Amino acid sequence: MNQHARPDTSPIPFIDVAAQRRRLGCAVDDAVARVLAHCQFIQGPEVRALEAELAAFGGARHAIACSSGTDALLLALMAWDVGPGDAVICPSFTFCATAEVVALLRATPIMADVQTDTFNLDADNLQRAIATAKRLGLKPKAVIPVDLFGLPADHDAIAAIAIEHGLFVLDDAAQAFGATYRGRKLGALATATATSFFPAKPLGCYGDGGAVFTDDDALAARIKSLRVHGEGVDKYDAVRIGMTGRLDSIQAAILLEKLKIFPDEIVARDRVAARYSEALAEVATVPRVGNESTSVWAQYTIRLAPGRRDGLAAALKAQGIPTAIYYAKPLHRQEAYRAFPVADGGAPVSERLAEEVISLPMHAYLEAPVQDRIIAAVRGALKE
Ligand SMILES: *Cc1c(COP(=O)(O)O)cnc(C)c1O
Repeated sequence: MNQHARPDTSPIPFIDVAAQRRRLGCAVDDAVARVLAHCQFIQGPEVRALEAELAAFGGARHAIACSSGTDALLLALMAWDVGPGDAVICPSFTFCATAEVVALLRATPIMADVQTDTFNLDADNLQRAIATAKRLGLKPKAVIPVDLFGLPADHDAIAAIAIEHGLFVLDDAAQAFGATYRGRKLGALATATATSFFPAKPLGCYGDGGAVFTDDDALAARIKSLRVHGEGVDKYDAVRIGMTGRLDSIQAAILLEKLKIFPDEIVARDRVAARYSEALAEVATVPRVGNESTSVWAQYTIRLAPGRRDGLAAALKAQGIPTAIYYAKPLHRQEAYRAFPVADGGAPVSERLAEEVISLPMHAYLEAPVQDRIIAAVRGALKE
């Protein structure tokens, strides 16, 4: 080998928002300029246009744009009248917002364990969590399955249990809008589906944003009212306690442009994931998708034997390659959530995953030569 050839250690971005900006050219700038010209910054025509496009994309009758993914979850639970005395079952291996909205409404989140291979809510553990809720004198009211890292949860198994126990199913698809489960799009699989347009999500805007999807007309009407301070037919008629939960017109205009290239980006993300999996299966546990679902790869997350993760992260960092740990602590170990109940039997899988997972750079614009640098670095570090 040439002694003088220095390895490339130039920094690689974890998510390349700038590459997407370049591809979009002036389309986004022009869309924003149109809003600046008409000045309908709140509930402007772009919001209605986006809602129609999102509903079609997600296969739901209604898409209600709102201020964030967290507010999408909150609005749906508020519309279902979730409150004190109610139990809402959440997976423990997720971002805190999933359980946060439950706690904000003074209901009780009950943490249930996930499946090792999909990282998603386990149906047997959902059953256990329902029994735990009853034993604690709470009313099991809802379940929030999460489609973690872009991969759909086992929605049919969860729906069967939900029907048996009369639970409201709110899908937390903050990371998974655009994914499919048994040929169906996320958006119409649960009674309500929430997603996020945070910039780092697969479909992101340039600020905060989110949406709720549902086929239920009455639920959609309540969510729309709650989004604007519980308004009635008249804007200044307050018929329920609501919030400021709107998406602004500028973000809607941006999303309309980004939605046009989203199907293409989903294909590109899947190609990146497939290249990772082929090259890394020998040195790490790579994600399993199965043939029933497609993932939008919000994260590409591998698992390593306990104790190996820090060494890999350090080796990659030295070569300009960032990594991230989603999530280093399961929810039931987080300071703010420790006091809430865990389903009987605990959540040992969530605890183990928190020690094993590490996520690699993932976005639609990850070029093969750059990805090869990442792959070589991971293989090099793990084969030592
Ligand atoms: C990002 C995220 C949310 C919250 O979305 P925001 O738009 O940031 O409020 C909720 N749940 C999960 C699983 C997420 O990843």
